[in-house]
Amino acid sequence: MATVEVPEYEVVDQVELSAKETAIIVVDMQNDFVKPEGKLYVPTAQATVEPIKRLLEKARKAGARAFYTQDTHYDNDPEYEIWGEHVRYGTWGWQIIDELKPQEGDIVVVKTRYDGFYGTPLDDLLRVYGIKNTVIVGTVANICVLHTAASAALRWYKVIVPIDGISALTDFDLHATLRQVSWLYKGIVVRSVDGIVFK
Ligand code: ZN
Repeated sequence: MATVEVPEYEVVDQVELSAKETAIIVVDMQNDFVKPEGKLYVPTAQATVEPIKRLLEKARKAGARAFYTQDTHYDNDPEYEIWGEHVRYGTWGWQIIDELKPQEGDIVVVKTRYDGFYGTPLDDLLRVYGIKNTVIVGTVANICVLHTAASAALRWYKVIVPIDGISALTDFDLHATLRQVSWLYKGIVVRSVDGIVFK
């Protein structure tokens, strides 16, 4: 096993965003990932529920739009060979957790791979609503969160990731995600959802 040092990346305490040009993207906060009885449980995901809830409440109040991705698989999905069966369409595990239930006006995007943009209407919807900034939270940090953040950045959306809004299976994965967001995608890593200010 190699021991590596995490290269420094910038973390800010506060970021100000125009509410009408900002979308919150909540990635895969579904029972199979967040709940202990789920099929692909991420133990650190539970701690992000409250911060994400606070962020969504603040965003909706300010007039920012909330999007959710919902990872979805059907019979014999090739991903089952990698991860085992998870988020099968229509099951309890597939549902977004009750604590973060989408509300009226929120948009749920069903996706079949790690990237929230791949084969989905997400890019089109963000453009329709004039979105420039994407605040990306959810799980799993280095998998669906990072693929979605990368895809947003390649389309020139500004990517903002609050550390307390994402969860990973290891610290390495968490730091690798944040470092990629900051260093490669020129996104903004903010210490907490509470540092995100809408104007
Ligand atoms: Zn999946």
